[in-house]
Amino acid sequence: MNAAAINDPDSFGGGAAAGARVLAPGIDVSHKTILYLEDISVSFDGFKALNKLSLDIDNGELRCIIGPNGAGKTTMMDVITGKTRPDSGSVFFGQTIDLAKLTEAEIAHAGIGRKFQKPTVFEQHSVFENLELAMKTDKRVRASLTARLDSAQHDRIADTLRLIHLAGVAGRDAGLLSHGQKQWLEIGMLLMQEPRVLLLDEPVAGMTDEETERTGELCRTLAGKHSVVVVEHDMDFVAGIANKVTVLHEGSVLAEGSMGEVQNDARVIEVYLGR
Ligand code: ADP
Ligand code: MG
Repeated sequence: MNAAAINDPDSFGGGAAAGARVLAPGIDVSHKTILYLEDISVSFDGFKALNKLSLDIDNGELRCIIGPNGAGKTTMMDVITGKTRPDSGSVFFGQTIDLAKLTEAEIAHAGIGRKFQKPTVFEQHSVFENLELAMKTDKRVRASLTARLDSAQHDRIADTLRLIHLAGVAGRDAGLLSHGQKQWLEIGMLLMQEPRVLLLDEPVAGMTDEETERTGELCRTLAGKHSVVVVEHDMDFVAGIANKVTVLHEGSVLAEGSMGEVQNDARVIEVYLGR
């Protein structure tokens, strides 16, 4: 699929039955992989933030990415989303979409949603309105901001509110939410755009224990329908949700496997404890 096809609203979701919608169906995941990073290098003033990083994410998986500060985790997300262009290497979305050929906006529209650490919600608008705005500013949806919601759109917002544990505060101004609730709202806003891939950078930073636990449940629920990539420092959180964990160090993959496997990896132990 080329960039023009990605911008065509009719190339998304149109034919799929309601309730069983295939998100961004133009993505070829016939080889099971939804994201391929190959030999990615990024330098800042000669310093290699990413150093021949290669990484695959399977369609529908929940992947946790850990690694010490400065390992390149955020830079990796910047490369996937087109914010930073690699000096070398390639990133593919499915088998056929070369993300180097798309702008940041086109990558988002193609189905890769990213949550930054700091939540950016519309504080003066209600929780419900935030989700409504997120849906209506989706370039794939032909609707004006003042148009009334149809019942399917209403249902989608209601479903999302339940998913993100905010159904009880739908009418509250977003500015009055707790830090954790704002993080969930922002995830909800991303979900309104129906991304295939969700990139979450330190989603539980600053959350209470209970909020952290609920965020873990949310990540697990989202996996399957979406592919979820979580970068996180909180080891207990990662241990609680992880299937496969990738450890980044100095811009490349140091180890990959189950949480137990990477925790027992001598190189990982050295990086985390040996200095
Ligand atoms: P992590 O998210 O794993 O903590 P980052 O990807 O943020 O790591 O950073 C990796 C390295 O690249 C760090 O040493 C950081 O200082 C450097 N870096 C990241 N972004 C920039 C930038 N825009 N300019 C210069 N150096 C940067
Ligand atoms: Mg970071």
